[in-house]
Amino acid sequence: MGSQEVSNVDWQGKHVTVAGLGVSGIPAARVLHGLGAVVTVVNDGDDERSRAQAAELEAQGIAVRLGDGDTLPASTELIVTAPGWKPGKPLFAAAADAGVPVWGDVELAWRLRGQDGREPAPWLAVTGTNGKTTTVRMLASILEAAGLRTAAVGNIGVSLLDAVLGEETYDVLAVELSSYQLHWAPSLRAHSAAVLNLAPDHLDWHGSMEAYAADKGRIYEGNQVACVYNAADPATEDLVREADVEEGCRAIGFTLGTPGPSQLGVVDGILVDRAFVQNRQKQAQELAEVGDVNPPAPHNIANALAAAALARAFGVEPAAVRDGLRNFRPDPHRIEHVADVDGVAYVDDSKATNTHAAEASLAAYDSLVWIAGGLAKGATFDELVTGCAKRLRGVVLIGADRALIREALARHAPEVPVVDLDRTDTGAMSEAVREAARLARPGDTVLMAPACASMDMFVNYNKRGEAFADAVRARAAESV
Ligand code: ADP
Repeated sequence: MGSQEVSNVDWQGKHVTVAGLGVSGIPAARVLHGLGAVVTVVNDGDDERSRAQAAELEAQGIAVRLGDGDTLPASTELIVTAPGWKPGKPLFAAAADAGVPVWGDVELAWRLRGQDGREPAPWLAVTGTNGKTTTVRMLASILEAAGLRTAAVGNIGVSLLDAVLGEETYDVLAVELSSYQLHWAPSLRAHSAAVLNLAPDHLDWHGSMEAYAADKGRIYEGNQVACVYNAADPATEDLVREADVEEGCRAIGFTLGTPGPSQLGVVDGILVDRAFVQNRQKQAQELAEVGDVNPPAPHNIANALAAAALARAFGVEPAAVRDGLRNFRPDPHRIEHVADVDGVAYVDDSKATNTHAAEASLAAYDSLVWIAGGLAKGATFDELVTGCAKRLRGVVLIGADRALIREALARHAPEVPVVDLDRTDTGAMSEAVREAARLARPGDTVLMAPACASMDMFVNYNKRGEAFADAVRARAAESV
């Protein structure tokens, strides 16, 4: 199916099972019911909250089965699943046996585009282990600067169903997709797409690194204009090679070095395009300066190049790339500069919930005190520590799995002072900041990039970042 084609499913009387009462399931059930489908929602949980949600849906004529997400309701013709449901669940085995197709939330949105007769907006899609949200927001900012009607949607927390069916009409959508969503989106065909990087993550869900990579690679299937890959991460280029794309679709690389033909890269502090120019053997087009990228850390310049590549694939002029990057403001807790206190910069990268993300922010500073630790999710820390050992002034460890990092430090950076905080109460982050301040010298950066999930001590990474920022601000107030 070409990307501008829309499927005309006749929903009237179609028996659809929605798997999961959650952020994607409830709107999907409502939309399908509104289209005339006979909807049954199945859900594993049967708690107070799901009972209240079920009551609301039932009042609208939607059947809900709580406490049993694994029995396939008789006469089901289609399952629409929450993206997080694992492929190995018995419900999906039953569906396969019965020949029932399974769509995720993204597949549903994709299939419903144009249902209302409007010309559907093309999708510029982004996935990767890290940097998705930043890249998609940069991309939307560039598209806006080009005067296009657009929105950053998808895994970023903005419903694709709303974007596709809502009142607003878009020229193009900047779409963040997770590996789960891609797994369940077999017919998605983006205008152009990027895989930013590939590092082991969510392997318990996918089953193996190969399966994870294959799901990410689906984003390139059927691309029309460009498959954007990371020249420093050959696994992303392999995925392009394996994809079945539309005639004439090009592979476009991005690199932090000098770009070759059909690449975007950096030359003397300038972001340049050697892909979407008349004569790419000889010509390069200046897009922006490194200083236009906010913050200009190496991994973030890579994100900017990926966003620029997608925008250029869509025909956006160089000046709009520059303006869009200049207008872009990063989301909180992503290498966010909180304050300078006594000549030391304090940076909150609470969103660094895995080692790959932390590696990127640790690479951005010459001399630092690192606050790390939390839930390791099965990760090992040797490579991470080896990469930054020489630049570490000191380390403050927090959280449940801090011993894993302490042991890696003992192996690869035995001379670096380490403060090991054996407390998980609300005051722990203040103490971590106090200890970090004690270790830091003027000109250093105190970087909270835990390389771990936060849930052992905090509700989520936002709360962890806020706790850090509060503690830093309290210090700043004291030092005035
Ligand atoms: P995602 O949406 O993929 O989780 P974000 O843009 O929210 O990505 O960034 C998540 C974390 O990953 C941040 O801590 C950031 O420092 C780090 N990060 C951002 N871009 C990259 C990249 N290109 N490579 C590695 N790490 C990155």
